[in-house]
Amino acid sequence: MTAVGRRRALVRAAFGTAVGAPLGGALTGLLVLAGCTVTTTPGGVPIDTRHSSRGQDSRVLFLVIHYTVADLPLAIKVLTEREVSAHYLLSDEAPPRIYRLVPEERRAWHSGLSAWKGHRLLNASSIGIEIVHPGFRLDADGERIHLPFPQAQIEALVPLVRDIVARHGIRPERILGHGEVSPQHKQDPGPTFPWRLFSELGITPPWPDAARVAAQRQRFDALPTGVPDIPWFQEQLAQHGYAVERTGRFDAQMRNVMINFQMRYRPERHDGAPDAESAAILWVLNNPAAASPGRQPLALPPAFPAATGGPAAATSAAQP
Ligand SMILES: [Zn+2]
Repeated sequence: MTAVGRRRALVRAAFGTAVGAPLGGALTGLLVLAGCTVTTTPGGVPIDTRHSSRGQDSRVLFLVIHYTVADLPLAIKVLTEREVSAHYLLSDEAPPRIYRLVPEERRAWHSGLSAWKGHRLLNASSIGIEIVHPGFRLDADGERIHLPFPQAQIEALVPLVRDIVARHGIRPERILGHGEVSPQHKQDPGPTFPWRLFSELGITPPWPDAARVAAQRQRFDALPTGVPDIPWFQEQLAQHGYAVERTGRFDAQMRNVMINFQMRYRPERHDGAPDAESAAILWVLNNPAAASPGRQPLALPPAFPAATGGPAAATSAAQP
């Protein structure tokens, strides 16, 4: 008897029946008996899956949400014929339809250069959802008017997100917008995406408590410059998860991060200026555990050094 024949005999002895017909591909045999499955390699070696390790999880750690800008026909064309792709495309049809373009176990190419909390190139570790949405239009003065998401689209999105998150065990804080993980290149899903609703539904982390934000803002208002300094912002943004360089200056890369931060947490004004309200929201996000705001020690950041250009300079530099 050959080695392969001996192994097959062992499998037969163990499971009481013959290895089944070849499946093709890497695993050529299949045997199903009493709920257990044995496959074999092309060389006939059995692969026994009766024992399962406790130490395992999904390779999917993140869920990244996008909008297409393109309409549905163009989005399908681009996402199927070019190099960019996404696992799911949520249409703006009535009622909305969800197109699954890439199986979840495969990598879709939706996030490109991306990072969050030290994780890099998130295509490998994420599910990507594209929402058919125009983003914004320009008014007569060339100002961007960000358009809302139709309720039917959000109602279709929520159960899809819940299902993906539950199956892969994705942590709430790892459900992110494309602009958050690629702030130097992207701003989708933009300031009208209902992140607050996602918090209220328990899908993403709790929304920053308004009373705690107000209390922290008062503390910042009391600083000589009325706002923390730029190194504080960069440190806190990085602590939250954004890929921001600690340059110590309010520069273009920091502004891009601030814009995306504000689009999510303070969408009414997302000019990228590091103001006291943004600072207070950021601080509350990074210090979520306070059971009682009154007893929580609030660490005051160092005052912004006025001589090197304070928040006013930063604000003016932030204007488009
Ligand atoms: Zn995107």
